[in-house]
Amino acid sequence: MPLINPHYGLLPGSYLFSEIARRIGAFSEAHPEKKILRLGIGDVTSPLPDSVVQALRRAVEEQSGADGFRGYGPEQGYAFLREAIVRDCFPDLGIRPEDIFVSDGAKCDLGNFQELFDISCKVAVTDPVYPVYVDSNVMAGRGGNRRGDGFSGIIYLPCHAGNNFVPTLPKTRPDLIYLCYPNNPTGTVLNRKELQVWVDYARAEDCIILYDAAYEAYITSPEAPRSIYELPGATEVAVEFRSYSKLAGFTGLRCAYVVLPQSVRGQGADGEKIPLAGLWLRRQTTKYNGCPYIVQRAAEAVHSPAGKAETSALVRGYLDNARKIRAAFEALGLTVYGGENAPYVWVKLPEGLDSWNFFDLLLDRAQIVGTPGAGFGPSGEGYFRLTGFGRPEATEEACRRLLGAGRQTLFPGRI
Ligand code: PLP
Repeated sequence: MPLINPHYGLLPGSYLFSEIARRIGAFSEAHPEKKILRLGIGDVTSPLPDSVVQALRRAVEEQSGADGFRGYGPEQGYAFLREAIVRDCFPDLGIRPEDIFVSDGAKCDLGNFQELFDISCKVAVTDPVYPVYVDSNVMAGRGGNRRGDGFSGIIYLPCHAGNNFVPTLPKTRPDLIYLCYPNNPTGTVLNRKELQVWVDYARAEDCIILYDAAYEAYITSPEAPRSIYELPGATEVAVEFRSYSKLAGFTGLRCAYVVLPQSVRGQGADGEKIPLAGLWLRRQTTKYNGCPYIVQRAAEAVHSPAGKAETSALVRGYLDNARKIRAAFEALGLTVYGGENAPYVWVKLPEGLDSWNFFDLLLDRAQIVGTPGAGFGPSGEGYFRLTGFGRPEATEEACRRLLGAGRQTLFPGRI
């Protein structure tokens, strides 16, 4: 029998959302009459913007004629989309259409990108963290051993109320640094000065920053950069990951891209500097055959004037939900982070209340589902994540339930 990759055995047995689903299932079985409101998982609920639907229709129609039919597309994505991206998102930032690599999701891009690096490379992540960065490196063999809630081979950069969710530079030098802003799960952002510290560090120490900007569209603060390439020096050390999922409701349609300037380089076996762009192209052309033409046309429509107006209305709606959730928890006397430049609201739980216990309490007392902070890493314990991605009516109903239940019911003996 073939031996399986032993690193898979190191991964935590039950994925966070399966455990949540299990607990919801048990609750529903015991209380079938109770309506559960789900503000836990980060999926969107609003339909696709009209300009996206129109573009899809036109592109499907094209496929029915011999002239318009498209088979395999260009390897990095169609030029019409790569040019629209650069024009709309990276004007004057030194990014060219050749630096854009279109794909069917930021999750796979983020999970796959580590393949370009040697197994000995040290990886740093902020903690709490979107699990894909850690798990994909563990699968590849960079995790070391399981240690408490984490892995001995991963450098964790704790982010909590004590440091205002700004990670401090690591004591040991990493090769790869994953940063995600606006952050999932904490909903916090870094300002220019705070992010520049990381760009400068990466340049001084020859590290690569893998910058996940999946929630860039939610930034409202002028202090927070929308792209890492707004910062001097970033085009030498940073790879940026973007997605249409939360920007334009593409979680089911699937389209994303990697921004990878030629100047971002790694080191070859003989010490020579090798641009990562050529390696990523090699990797993608070997293992991937591209995002569908019709989906790339739909993504192009997101960058049109009508598409931009429609997607900003979508984003405003989700931010509005997040603000309501924030206000409800604040009215209950809790300290809340995020929700202003991100769809995520990160609630600090009363001292001593653990996040899985609060999950059960919230489900039992108000039939609201959120996500326990502990599921995102050791520093997530004591916090709870809610998202603004619900339907507005469901979010308002959830807020009414929270306020109706009150502090004593939700946090018995804690406040
Ligand atoms: N990055 C972060 C931080 C996310 O939260 C998500 C999805 O929830 C993704 C990336 C994945 O995006 P996509 O739908 O493009 O795969």
